[in-house]
Amino acid sequence: MNNCILCQDDGGHLVWRGDDARVVLVDSPDLPGYCRVVWNRHIAEMSELSRVEREILLALVDVVEFAVRRVMRPQKINLASLGNQVPHLHWHVIPRFADDPYFPDSIWSSKHRDTIDTVLKSRRELAKGLPEAIRSGIADLA
Ligand SMILES: [Zn+2]
Repeated sequence: MNNCILCQDDGGHLVWRGDDARVVLVDSPDLPGYCRVVWNRHIAEMSELSRVEREILLALVDVVEFAVRRVMRPQKINLASLGNQVPHLHWHVIPRFADDPYFPDSIWSSKHRDTIDTVLKSRRELAKGLPEAIRSGIADLA
């Protein structure tokens, strides 16, 4: 067995798991609604997927993006697949707001500000609706 963290752990709060991939909510207090779509098998690159697998993964990313837009009403969605630190295929789906700590830079850049507490709390409340919205969107794919 390898020591890959995404082979050993879900990588966040599990929202949904299928045969090929899973969706998790990332425990990120500053960025409520931040999700990841993680391929279950340990591979590093999109081009290692078959065409059908790629369609499955991108359909899941699409469903999660749509759910995050609908539930969180962000200014922008950031989609990212980096894998430099954890070379196990996964996509980040991140709702972005003009007052989030890193905006307009990527969430991996240095922090510019703290979001006002009441705003953050209301976004955390909104994010509670995400698991249901994501599961419902995935159910509609079938
Ligand atoms: Zn892995």
